[in-house]
This record gives sequence, C-alpha cells and structure tokens, in this order.
Amino acid sequence: MTDSSSAVRFDHVSRHFGAVRAVNDVSFEIRDGEFFSMLGPSGSGKTTCLRLIAGFEQPTAGHLLLHGRDVSATPPYDRDVNTVFQDYALFPHMSVWENVAYGLMIRRVPKAERRRQAEAMLGMVKLGDFAGRRPAQLSGGQRQRVALARALVNRPSVLLLDEPLGALDLKLREAMQEELKALQRQVGITFVYVTHDQGEALAMSDRVAVFNLGRVEQIDTPSAIYDRPATAFVAGFVGASNMVDAATAGKLMGQDRAFALRPERIRILVDGQAVPADSVEVAGTVDGVSFLGATTRYRVALAPGGAIDVIESNLDTAPKSPGEAVRLSWRRDHAHPLADVAAHPQADVAA
Ligand code: ATP
Repeated sequence: MTDSSSAVRFDHVSRHFGAVRAVNDVSFEIRDGEFFSMLGPSGSGKTTCLRLIAGFEQPTAGHLLLHGRDVSATPPYDRDVNTVFQDYALFPHMSVWENVAYGLMIRRVPKAERRRQAEAMLGMVKLGDFAGRRPAQLSGGQRQRVALARALVNRPSVLLLDEPLGALDLKLREAMQEELKALQRQVGITFVYVTHDQGEALAMSDRVAVFNLGRVEQIDTPSAIYDRPATAFVAGFVGASNMVDAATAGKLMGQDRAFALRPERIRILVDGQAVPADSVEVAGTVDGVSFLGATTRYRVALAPGGAIDVIESNLDTAPKSPGEAVRLSWRRDHAHPLADVAAHPQADVAA
C-alpha cells in the first residue's frame, strides 16, 4: 500500500484537543524530494500536521508513516526529520559555526569534522564569511540562513519549516523564497513548508495542500490550485476569484452549477468584437474602478444579476468609467464548477 517514493504519509490522521478537531481525518502523501507546502488560514490545522510529522504531537486516530514506516508512536529524536522554527531558536552564546555544528556535536562527530561540515553548509547558505560571529551580530535574513544550515547539516530526509520567513520584511522574504527553492533543489531533501501566505506557497512549491477547518480541501501543483480550484474555499483563499452562484450560473452558462472565475480571465470586449465559439458573452455596467498600476480592476454589475470583478492590463485597453455599459466575455473552460458552494450560501462574489 505504501510506495517507496513517499516521504510522509497521513493515513486517516486526526488530532483532537478536547472538543477542538485541529486535524480531522486527513489522508495525503508527500513525495520524496518534493517541496510541499501546507497552506491555510490561522487555525486550519497546518502547524499541528507539521508537529505530527516532527513527533511533537501524536495522532488521536490514524497512522503517520515516514518512508513507509509507521512512526505514530516514535519519539521526535528517532525520526529522520528536522524543524526550522519561525523564531530560529539560535543559541546566543555560541558562534555561528558552533550553532550549525550543534547537531553534529550531539552525535559526537569529532570537532575538526564538525567544523568542516558546518563551514561547508554555511558556504551553501552564503554565510561562509560569518562563521565566527554571534547570532546577535547578524541580520534577520542571515539568522534565518543559520537556522537553515543548522537543520540541513544533519542531513535529515525531511525538513520541516514553520513559517520560516514570517519575521522578515517583504523584499527579503521574496529573495529568501528564491534561495530556499534553489537550496532545496541542490540538497534534494523533502521540504515541508507551513505558511498562510498564498503567494509564498505558489512561488516555491512543487505541490500545495490547502487546509481549512482541520481538513485538506485540495492538493495539487500551484498552477492547478490557482487555475482549477476544487472548492469555493480554495478559490477564495488562493488569489482573487469571482464566485458565481448557481442561479446566476444557470443564466450565464446554461448550467445549474456555481463556478469560480478568475478576474483576469474576463475580457471587456471592444465595440463590434465577435465572441469566439468557446466563450460566453454577458452585458453589464461598470460599477467601480480601482487603478492597480499595471492593471485596473473593474467591478461590473451583470445584466442577468450579480456582480463580478474584472482585471485588465493597462497596456492594451482604454480605461472605462463608472456607469459605462460593457460586454464581458470569458472562455467556458475558465469557469470552474465548485463542489461545495452549498456550504457557502453567501458566496456570491469574493475578491
Ligand atoms: P496558525 O497559522 O495560526 O499557526 P494553524 O493552521 O497552524 O494556524 P494549528 O496551530 O494547527 O493551526 O491549530 C489548529 C487548531 O487546533 C486551532 O483551533 C488551535 O487553537 C487548536 N490547537 C492547536 N494546538 C492546541 C493545543 N495544544 N491545545 C488546544 N488546542 C490546540
């Protein structure tokens, strides 16, 4: 039932805290060598899943497997797993290289060898010149890299990262996202990354699991999560999306299923422009205009009812004004039927 390419496997795992179902009957697999993100709002259960993998939590029900071995009852130190925490947890009284070499010291690796391996790892995270400094003498981004090097030097088969970029400013975060992804490719270790930042998850991951209320709503590649959200929750949480309810959908598409539609998939037709056979055409009136720099977002009231957001590039279209009549068009296959919109009756349009 388990294949050897699976690094982590959740098999009907639940973790309850009293009445709180932090993780609720979750089954999924993380492949060996992949960059896997667990994405979701606060309280959706992703950190608890990470702690279950690390062994800081035990399942209330179900089984957790690491490389095919059931570790549900295995303590953290017996798992081939390391964690990088958001606050880095560096030892302030130790030098950078001693921090990195800490795990090797615990495993009684001789000092010269420890230093060699720590310096090699520091080179990999571009901190070769900082081995002798103390953590207090480093910037936030540099400390982050020390924490990474300290985890990676142990060569775990799985590295767990809990919002590791959360403390950094936006520019540094973006730079570190690229570095992390490159580093993961270089070392070939399975990365399991927890974040509530959808941009971060989409930018770095091979696959993303979207969590909601202790369950996984969808697991897929970033582009599939974005382009083909399986549920109203995913469509609303990952990027901006129009959620068109079943009644309006019937009028627009001739089918009685609610659907999600990305604002940038909608075109405002120019006068006389024909609608391709694979697309629908809808009349509406511009209700609101937000200039976003490279793009403009229009709120358009639809003639059949409801309203929808449209994002247009500013390069190739003339700006529209509130009150202006427009014709909208989108390809039928860009409207993604939603599985669970009945559970979100208020989900008319969300952005
Ligand atoms: P965040 O992004 O805020 O860290 P999260 O998605 O990681 O959120 P979890 O930390 O996994 O969410 O928490 C899921 C739910 O379980 C929350 O309602 C939380 O309050 C609850 N929970 C987590 N740990 C415990 C605990 N030790 N005791 C009681 N409840 C807990």
